[in-house]
Amino acid sequence: MSYEVVVGLEIHCQLNTKSKAFCGCSTEFGKPANTNVCPVCLALPGALPVLNRRVVEDAVKLGLATGCTIAPRSILARKNYFYPDLPKGYQISQYEEPVCSGGTVRVDTDEGHKDVRLVRIHIEEDAGKSIHDIGDDTFIDVNRCGVPLLEIVSYPDIRSVREASLYLQKLHQIVKYLGISDGNMEEGSLRCDANVSVRLKGAEKYGTRTEIKNMNSFKSVEKAIEYEEMRHIDILENGGTIVQETRLWDADKQETRSMRGKEFAHDYRYFPDPDLVPIRIDNEMLERLKLELPEFPNARAERFVQEFGIPAYDAGVLTAEREVADYFEAVVRACGDAKAASNWVMGEVLRKLKERNVPVTSFSVSPERLGDLVGLIAGGTISNTIAKQVFERMLETGDGARTIVEKEGLAQVSDTAEIEKAVQGVIEANPGQVGQYRSGKTKVFGFFVGQCMKAMKGKANPVVVNEILKQKLEG
Ligand SMILES: [Zn+2]
Repeated sequence: MSYEVVVGLEIHCQLNTKSKAFCGCSTEFGKPANTNVCPVCLALPGALPVLNRRVVEDAVKLGLATGCTIAPRSILARKNYFYPDLPKGYQISQYEEPVCSGGTVRVDTDEGHKDVRLVRIHIEEDAGKSIHDIGDDTFIDVNRCGVPLLEIVSYPDIRSVREASLYLQKLHQIVKYLGISDGNMEEGSLRCDANVSVRLKGAEKYGTRTEIKNMNSFKSVEKAIEYEEMRHIDILENGGTIVQETRLWDADKQETRSMRGKEFAHDYRYFPDPDLVPIRIDNEMLERLKLELPEFPNARAERFVQEFGIPAYDAGVLTAEREVADYFEAVVRACGDAKAASNWVMGEVLRKLKERNVPVTSFSVSPERLGDLVGLIAGGTISNTIAKQVFERMLETGDGARTIVEKEGLAQVSDTAEIEKAVQGVIEANPGQVGQYRSGKTKVFGFFVGQCMKAMKGKANPVVVNEILKQKLEG
């Protein structure tokens, strides 16, 4: 019998605001424990929270980017539960009236577009951190208390591991394009929980679901869902029943294990936070934020195809990350040759970034300098082959292309006398091939071109080489 997996994802996205959600404390990562704190985030009696405007704006931007309905009025609520690293005894979140609801995230699967529907996007604050790996004691670091998060809840519309992965990648791309989060999964800026169930293909009713937590990379999300799908099928095939529970993904053992049952029966006693006024979003604010939205990947890729005449595939690669697309456009502005710019960015630049594991924003060759280099090729000063050498030297020395070409004498030689000398030498050294060519085996022409270029260390202007070779061989 054939099963299908049904997945819904809850994603916590940490916003990159400078200060926390309800106080002025810094959100900087990696500070000494318990130093980014004040009476509000320490939950001292009588301290009063004030909502950070940026948090609301970021939530609205994400809502607009995913086609959500933005509530003109929404409520911050207290979600009550005890946890050692949550000093207040409750978390400020949103319950009945979230800031965004509805909306979709479009993923491009192999079978075409698929829209994964969103239940809601709401604002909440993060909790602190318990540290268990120092001696026998547990330590609490509350630096993270009050750091703003957006929780993005999808409907169980996802039907495969691949779709789950594409959905997560798409959301990652959207928050990065919006500039509201660094989207770094390893540092916990994007955290994902998955609700997983299986059912027979064609069945209408959902199976019993389990919730998986603790997946901190794209790979682990895929692995964990895959594992859970297999586990469910295995239980059902053996006549067992699935227990509704929360399970942890163990990346070392590559398996999920039971964490707690009956999670879904919890009553958090939500109620509106009496210390915080309702969030109001008027039309003026909506219109202003709409204007601040960036051009999104699909639209940008389409424009690249129209405006620059590059293939759709190239446009897709170049727009996958906003910063790479920005870099590419700056190279085009600097050199005026979009196709060459696209080849260089997709080839050499992306390869170097991968090798060095750095983002394009900290790449040592600026787009203006790469534009110069591309310009030198177009202008006939250097060949493509030499340009690759120059590019390496630019990375090593930090010098500009022109400086390197001049300093190292790499400019292309178009001087006929010099090229003629080289051609003559090659012809004299290879009488056999000359005979072949003259008896009609013109395919050996390529061999001569190669030899001449080699003799001139790649610096000869290939057009001139071709001309002179032809004359000499045929004359
Ligand atoms: Zn604080």
